[in-house]
Amino acid sequence: MNPYILAETNWKTIKDAAIELAILPWGATEAHNLHLPFSTDNIETERIVRKAAENAYKSGAKILVLPTIPFGVNTGQLDIRVNINMNPGTQFAILKDIADVLNRHRIRKLLIVNGHGGNDFRQMIRELGAGFPEMFICTCNWYQAVDQARFFENGGGHADEMETSLLLFLSPELVLPLNEAGKGKARKFRIKALNEGWAWSERKWSKVTADTGIGDPSKASREKGEKYFNEVVRKLSDLISGLSETDIQNMYE
Ligand SMILES: [Zn+2]
Repeated sequence: MNPYILAETNWKTIKDAAIELAILPWGATEAHNLHLPFSTDNIETERIVRKAAENAYKSGAKILVLPTIPFGVNTGQLDIRVNINMNPGTQFAILKDIADVLNRHRIRKLLIVNGHGGNDFRQMIRELGAGFPEMFICTCNWYQAVDQARFFENGGGHADEMETSLLLFLSPELVLPLNEAGKGKARKFRIKALNEGWAWSERKWSKVTADTGIGDPSKASREKGEKYFNEVVRKLSDLISGLSETDIQNMYE
């Protein structure tokens, strides 16, 4: 039983516990090429958060990890079988209810740890900040915490070498043999600006990739996954400790 994991702790422990920061892991339930499980983003995000929270707790952080929200924004993948889409408006309603509970119980800091590219909580945080002015709410994408090119030969972003390596480390029993994976080949937009990042539109997933993957997973390994996991955990532990320690009335130097 970890006292900083809400799902595992109890009323006896929690009723008088000092909690500075709540941490909300948020994933998605979606196809990941042919070889990775639908819960890939949830497994990665939950395991990264658990380990980072453990490290931060042991060094004195006053934290509480909330249960992982398993559904992400998958509006570009509605035609992909049983990808569960949760609309941004629904996500905002969930976040608002959670912020309301935390605020009532004087837990004023909330970190959303995101593990799915279709989720974007930034605009929601602006609106929540206006509704809950005593709170400090922030978000991070763990997959942007360290430079993936230091660990992996091929990028992509979805069921790619990075995600396959992480799953080979975290849940190898849920990964099909790599020779059964698709190539994760992705088509680009015909309009150059949309590939440059400064112009944006949602990609229609089934028109972009044949196997739902984006990025070649063939060079993935458990060893690469473990090294990357440890580096992401180290960065996230620092963020959690910093948020726990810092007075929200005094955030700027
Ligand atoms: Zn993923």
